[in-house]
Amino acid sequence: RAKAIGRGNICSYDVDMDNEQQQRRELEHDLGHAIARGEFWLAYQPLVNARTRQTTGYEALLRWDHPRLGAVPPDRFIPLAEETGAIIPIGEWVLTEACTEAAGWPNQLSIAVNVSAVQFWIPSLVDTVRNALQISGLPAHRLELEITESVVMRDSENVVRTLDELREIGVSIVMDDFGTGFSSLSNLKSYAFDKIKIDRSFIATIDSDSSSRAIMRAIVGLGHSMNLPVVAEGVETEEQLQFVASEGCVQVQGYLFGRPAIAPAFTDLQVSAV
Ligand code: C2E
Ligand code: MG
Ligand code: MG
Ligand code: MG
Repeated sequence: RAKAIGRGNICSYDVDMDNEQQQRRELEHDLGHAIARGEFWLAYQPLVNARTRQTTGYEALLRWDHPRLGAVPPDRFIPLAEETGAIIPIGEWVLTEACTEAAGWPNQLSIAVNVSAVQFWIPSLVDTVRNALQISGLPAHRLELEITESVVMRDSENVVRTLDELREIGVSIVMDDFGTGFSSLSNLKSYAFDKIKIDRSFIATIDSDSSSRAIMRAIVGLGHSMNLPVVAEGVETEEQLQFVASEGCVQVQGYLFGRPAIAPAFTDLQVSAV
């Protein structure tokens, strides 16, 4: 009897592994067709001034409505797309779509687009960005590219050159999810970013974890000493807002101000006021 249960357990474990493998393969395969089938859309989440609470721009966040599985979260499919290389055409689609949407926004609102490290490791990224700006007519200074520490972890000449060329075009570079990766602080200096975004895991534990508060202070201090504005993501409560604002974060993003949602609509009046 014990043996039978044991076998059963092994069996169901194998089935789970098979399901995981199978779903992964299915997703990898379907990612290759998702653009053509119109399954992607972009959600936009506001970034606001920490003091005035005025919206200064939006971050574009990719959404995938899978025909069979429904909404697949980006944390699930982006890594798969990075493995298969599908992130290259997907990243191009995101850039063009986001720039085109933002080109119609009033008041110089900015648009932040996440760029995968994999996109950085092939030479076409600069052309892709140039094309997206040209097709959309969006002025370069309104586009922010969010990269993570994984981009700069290997101090490669190509990465430095790509970042230089992007800055030459006039877009700004934001270090996203800062504090979670393993980049050295000297990297921050040699790559000359325009803005630092503190990872939301630190903001989420501000009330409960004194080391999160200490890390947050250290990051803001670092940013200030390098003359870089610091953004806090994942702000959900007034208390968190008060804390990050008093510590010197100039911009905030989080459910307190708005969840990622379909593209914001502006009235003709707002648009013509530009
Ligand atoms: P991210 O760039 O750090 O984006 C912020 C994430 O935090 C988003 O998750 C957003 O919905 C979530 N968030 C914002 N405010 C709050 C809050 O107050 N509370 C909580 N609990 N969460 C909040 P999302 O949309 O699931 O995206 C996850 C990650 O997927 C992104 O993290 C980014 O790394 C990646 N991603 C999304 N879109 C793209 C894309 O177009 N290209 C690439 N390469 N990566 C993308
Ligand atoms: Mg981001
Ligand atoms: Mg982030
Ligand atoms: Mg994050």
